[in-house]
Amino acid sequence: MIIQDLEKAIEVEKGKIKRIYKKGEVKADFKFEGKIYPSFCDSHTHITGLGLSEIRYSLKGKKSKEEVYEFLKGILKEKRETIIAYDFDESKWKEKEFPKKEELDKISRDVPIILRRICGHFAVGNSKALEILKNAKGIDFETGIMKEEVPLNLNHYFPPSKEEIKRAFVKGQEIALPKGITEVHDIVGLKNFENITEFEEKDFLIRINLYVVLKNLYEIKEFERIKEKFKEKEFLKLKGIKVFSDGSIGARTAFLKEDYADLKGERGKLLIDEETLKEFIRYAEEKGIQLLVHAIGDSAIEFVLKTFNKMISKNSLRHRIEHFELVNKNIIKMAKKTGIYLSMQPNFVREWQEKNGMYYKRLGEERWKKMNLFKTLLNEGLKIAFGSDCMPIGPLYGIEGALNHSLKEERIDFETAIKLYTEKPRKFCFEENKRGKIKENCDADLILLNEKNNLHATIFKSKIFYSST
Ligand SMILES: [Zn+2]
Repeated sequence: MIIQDLEKAIEVEKGKIKRIYKKGEVKADFKFEGKIYPSFCDSHTHITGLGLSEIRYSLKGKKSKEEVYEFLKGILKEKRETIIAYDFDESKWKEKEFPKKEELDKISRDVPIILRRICGHFAVGNSKALEILKNAKGIDFETGIMKEEVPLNLNHYFPPSKEEIKRAFVKGQEIALPKGITEVHDIVGLKNFENITEFEEKDFLIRINLYVVLKNLYEIKEFERIKEKFKEKEFLKLKGIKVFSDGSIGARTAFLKEDYADLKGERGKLLIDEETLKEFIRYAEEKGIQLLVHAIGDSAIEFVLKTFNKMISKNSLRHRIEHFELVNKNIIKMAKKTGIYLSMQPNFVREWQEKNGMYYKRLGEERWKKMNLFKTLLNEGLKIAFGSDCMPIGPLYGIEGALNHSLKEERIDFETAIKLYTEKPRKFCFEENKRGKIKENCDADLILLNEKNNLHATIFKSKIFYSST
């Protein structure tokens, strides 16, 4: 099949780019007004979580507490089973405040209810839910507020069935593909890793590069056990592991050098100590696998870079920091020295970095100006790939955040942004010789954008999927 855009024609055969011609040089089967790019690869996703929040309850798009509570009451009229509802974002609500335990108790005293914040690091439960969680860490039983442990591991405390997980995994991919995403870096917990190991070839609709979250050094053993039975598939590869060094700005658990502007005495904390992080780096280096470290606050990022600098000289395994949001000059210098790879989320800028938005309130003006410095970091020669962390998923949605950055000097142009969502993520997962460029013998994983830069079609596995927009 030969597809042609306004500049060139591409011959696609058996899913690969066979030859590239000038426009008009050959007779095309499909002619498009627009431009063909490599397809998107999202460098930070949680595909099962994305699917679960669709097949379970989602609070996305709710505009007020009242609306959320009415929604919960509606569910309880239908069935009286544990309610876990995902993705509330109080910064978008009329009231701009977290849900309260007493309010949830008024909705039900006998059905457990847990509402998880969109960042995944924060949740609130009613008294019944807290009863079940009485031995868990990170819970304030007075207020019902849960940080880190429980919200990040809801699937552990309230496990979805195997069947539900598989359905969610497929659903998540079905959400991604129509957005031009044919490949992701999927970050999963150990249990999910084990489930995915048992999936069949037909359950993989797009290319999945897996990264497994390990909570402590003991989990390495479990990871090794599951890895034994892991079989690579055409669309499934295991690429590395991930650890957390701090939380999120929204939950005020990102680890900062100074207090949160809107909560004196609070500056988050490290979720990992130096010895443990060193052990993880040692393990990754020994096994030749990539290590991803979640770090958002300036203090956490500095700690992670310092530790890397002590352990490695050239970063040949392409170890990464995920998010890398709040930085300063010294951090940038250290990052260059480490040769660290950075997965960043332009959609976070769009969602929360507007003036007077959530980041602005949490951090104050001065630190708000040091968040997500795309242009500065690129000018410094740092390696960045874009990803969404599914908040929400959608590269073209996210790219808008980079083009219209609230800090004007940090805006980047469209072609650069596209590269960070197509070519770079492939480099980040060692697939740069196979995909991410329009080059002969590369996989023909392509998208077609029309003249307004909207997605018109996705070309994948020698098939054309048209978009509705
Ligand atoms: Zn994530």
